[in-house]
Amino acid sequence: MTTKPAPKPYILGIHAYVPGKSTASDGRALVKLSANENPLGTSSAALAALESSRGEAASYPDPDSKALRAAIAQLHGLDPARIVCGTGSDELLNLAAQGFAGAGDEVLFSAHSFAVYDIAARRCGADPVEAPDCDHTADVDALLAAVSERTKVVFLANPNNPTGTWIAPEEVMRLHAGLPTDVLLVIDEAYGEYVDPAHQRLGFELAARHDNVLVTRTFSKIYGLAAERIGWATGAPGLIDVLNRIRGPFNVTTSGQKAALAALGDQDFVVASRTHNTVERARFVAAIEALGNHGLVAVPSEANFVLVEFNGELAAETALGAIAEAGYAVRHLPGQGLPNALRITIGKSADMDNVIACLRSLCGESA
Ligand code: PMP
Repeated sequence: MTTKPAPKPYILGIHAYVPGKSTASDGRALVKLSANENPLGTSSAALAALESSRGEAASYPDPDSKALRAAIAQLHGLDPARIVCGTGSDELLNLAAQGFAGAGDEVLFSAHSFAVYDIAARRCGADPVEAPDCDHTADVDALLAAVSERTKVVFLANPNNPTGTWIAPEEVMRLHAGLPTDVLLVIDEAYGEYVDPAHQRLGFELAARHDNVLVTRTFSKIYGLAAERIGWATGAPGLIDVLNRIRGPFNVTTSGQKAALAALGDQDFVVASRTHNTVERARFVAAIEALGNHGLVAVPSEANFVLVEFNGELAAETALGAIAEAGYAVRHLPGQGLPNALRITIGKSADMDNVIACLRSLCGESA
């Protein structure tokens, strides 16, 4: 009998991440409102930088993303020595778990939060622990109650994916204040730039003041660079040092570094993207509220998507099929405990009109 390599048992406990779809079951291409990408695309400055980096493909990228870190630091008033870049923020979330948790430890997060936290915990052999949420929102008391002597890392997505909900600075501070100082709090701000600018700095301030706070951000969402896979994190030197020891040595491509640098310089594009999102999200939420008598509920969102619950006769799965018929991919997440809901990315105005018309017609209302 031949033997074969045996995977670690905890790796087999992982359900691989399921990405948002872009095709119907019959293979037809759909407009993607399933991955929270920027419907305005990418800043033209970033596209030009991508183009200009073509000639550099034969050389390794800057291993330390120096120019990019300096530009991030300048824009946000941070210390570049307290920043590390990653292959998407995904890499950094995984490294945070790997660097601080392992077998016998617990990694804590809210129910209905980002699917990668469970994977990140299991990848390093730690036990994922979910605290109940409240009205689809992280519940600070429930999180604190779930902290045990084994808890090493707490993930908080703020705003949260897939619910879009956000907790106010006082609540984040209360969470941090209630955690033992040897527990790492990772504040995942992948959608941070969509929040009212008046509330965007708390994570950075906590990360600057405390040794146990790491904030992650990404260029995949408002900056429209998801394909390039660029994320970054800021925190105390001791935290950044750990991530630097275990990250990929050339983890951000040259094109990615250059595109992100150019994207940072085009804040008009960021403002336009946020404004588009705020306006279209409000219009979409109002349209869902108008269907409230059919059991549709829009979960309050501070992100670039809205979770719509289907609590009446119209089932989420039926709506998913009809929306796909109309040409759109949205996200159904039964595997994440949300069988009665669809997560719908805020797209271009005309696309939102079509999704609204489809939902109205399913409810028997005139388009
Ligand atoms: N955090 C959250 C909450 C997300 O929704 C996502 C993307 N789906 C990420 C992190 C990771 O994004 P990226 O790796 O593209 O930076």
